[in-house]
Amino acid sequence: MSISNNTATIFCIANQKGGVGKTTTAINLAAALAAMRKRVLLIDLDPQGNATMGSGVDKNTVEKNLYQVLIGDTSITEARVPSESGGYDVLPANRELSGAEIDLIQMEEREKQLKQAIAHVVDEYDFILIDCPPTLSLLTLNGLASAHGVIIPMQCEYFALEGLSDLVNTIKRVYNNINPELQLIGLLRVMFDGRVTLQQQVSAQIESHFGSRVFETVIPRNVRLAEAPSHGMPGIVYDKNSRGAKAYIDFGNELIKRVKKEALRQQARPRL
Ligand code: ATP
Ligand code: MG
Repeated sequence: MSISNNTATIFCIANQKGGVGKTTTAINLAAALAAMRKRVLLIDLDPQGNATMGSGVDKNTVEKNLYQVLIGDTSITEARVPSESGGYDVLPANRELSGAEIDLIQMEEREKQLKQAIAHVVDEYDFILIDCPPTLSLLTLNGLASAHGVIIPMQCEYFALEGLSDLVNTIKRVYNNINPELQLIGLLRVMFDGRVTLQQQVSAQIESHFGSRVFETVIPRNVRLAEAPSHGMPGIVYDKNSRGAKAYIDFGNELIKRVKKEALRQQARPRL
């Protein structure tokens, strides 16, 4: 893991469970980092195109999208568009991307197409965030193969831990076979409601299971975060004083600190 002035640090926001807050996290983290004057690219790796729409970019009218990048028809430089509301760039996606799986299967190094495309723009950004679909598909593999770290958003509910081992095993497999830089940066508790005893219990269970891999910041359930996408804005721009917005800004700060600490730890480690 490196934070460098010259090349981007790349994070995947992943969890194969649907509706757990991946896209909300990706959009608001992108906007929080942009508000800290970081240069950010948000890659929408989901055919649903929610990260695109939530950034105020119309997925149906964009000239080019991630699908054409993955099949080698265009570059990220050609396909990216600015999010006016968020202050970052977006590599948009729409339902065309669901066809990519079939095209990719026939390609050599099919899990490395995104990584190869990103290589051309890494020196233009401080951070690249990848919003993964709710699957452990070839698309998600392309995301994991490109990233330095994975952020896993999760809800503190009864079934939250179920399926997590599949994701952790996939991360390990990608680490061992495709991407030796990949690390599990942390688990982020989202949509948290501290009044619910079960949520407190599951939150404590996650802490005891994953220890320091759990981010200290907890994102509360907050209606402003849910309203923001329909206005084509990140929550932290739509209502910067809301509890949800403040939590995502805290999360941005915590993430940067954590990555810096990790980089120092690695520098101190004797080289073999
Ligand atoms: P998918 O798996 O379909 O890609 P996802 O994991 O990306 O879903 P989101 O789209 O971010 O999940 O969130 C699911 C729903 O929950 C959305 O309607 C979103 O607005 C809402 N939501 C996310 N985070 C919060 C929050 N902290 N408070 C309230 N609502 C939230
Ligand atoms: Mg999503």
